[in-house]
Amino acid sequence: MRRFVTILTVLLLLTGCAKQAESHTKDFFAMNTVMSVTVSGENSEEDSLRAMQIVQELDKQWSVTNENSAVYQLNATGTAELSDETAELLRRSLQLKEETGGAFDPTIYQIVKMWGFTTGEYRVPTDVELADALEMHRNSSITLDGNRATVSGCAVDLGAVAKGYTAAKIASELEHADTLNLNLGGNIQLEGTKPDGSPWRVGIKNPENTEEYLGILELESGAVVTSGGYERYFEQDGVRYCHIIDPKTGRPADKGLISVTIVSEDGFLADALSTALYVMGLEEASAFWRGRTDFEAVLVTDAGEIYATEGLQDSFSGCEFQVITR
Ligand code: ADP
Ligand code: MG
Repeated sequence: MRRFVTILTVLLLLTGCAKQAESHTKDFFAMNTVMSVTVSGENSEEDSLRAMQIVQELDKQWSVTNENSAVYQLNATGTAELSDETAELLRRSLQLKEETGGAFDPTIYQIVKMWGFTTGEYRVPTDVELADALEMHRNSSITLDGNRATVSGCAVDLGAVAKGYTAAKIASELEHADTLNLNLGGNIQLEGTKPDGSPWRVGIKNPENTEEYLGILELESGAVVTSGGYERYFEQDGVRYCHIIDPKTGRPADKGLISVTIVSEDGFLADALSTALYVMGLEEASAFWRGRTDFEAVLVTDAGEIYATEGLQDSFSGCEFQVITR
């Protein structure tokens, strides 16, 4: 018996070592942000390269500033034949727009662009410009017939879901890997069990000092995505304007939240909802969560209060927080 235990221990140690040795990381820049991909398993080098390739391929199709992308073509000419994947992402995004009552809106690009987000030409539009743009947006339409997309009076921006969708796609394509640790510009996707069996730990940034962590989330697998006003913004006359637009006002979202983190098995959903709940504000976001079972959230208010939904009660730690109950 003792010998058996010894052999078993050696075997476990060996497999543990083998897994740790077969790990590869790729750091690169894509989708306008810094990315890091770590894969462990038998073909980890090939897999890490493949992960990087998937990001680059999708970036080429969805960029709003690259003239060769399908989304750019759609916005510039009013119509485009999309790849199966882009059509699928747009279809899911339009459905999420309905589900979130328009808080998440993939057709808001004209207004995003007026503020200079994604192009870098920042400016505060006048009230008249904004009123006109909102009127036009209210009367706009988008249709998706098979893979043929047509827009009128609006333009598409998949920036709020591109990274989450891409992370989920990598996770599904590299399902055979032992572990997968993706950080696509703050969109985290974690798969597989670590060699020591411990859960993954993800730090949520302190929105007021991004060098620090507010708290730590522990999870077995899935996506952790944060949207924060601090991630991309500009300042004019002492006022800070963030890159998440409230489609109802056409102005940067201003419902009292400064950071929203979504935890979900589904990377696409986590990304879309981090943006949507940021726009909704604490009360509406809490009510929205009560109506669903496919995600959990951590919300930080501009008063510095931290809230976490019930499902994270035992897995979120490192700070004082209030629990949002069903
Ligand atoms: P990040 O891309 O910094 O991780 P988000 O996922 O929240 O942050 O996406 C924000 C981006 O999505 C903006 O830069 C803009 O391109 C676009 N966007 C802004 N407001 C909205 C909105 N209400 N719905 C959908 N997309 C939006
Ligand atoms: Mg998002």
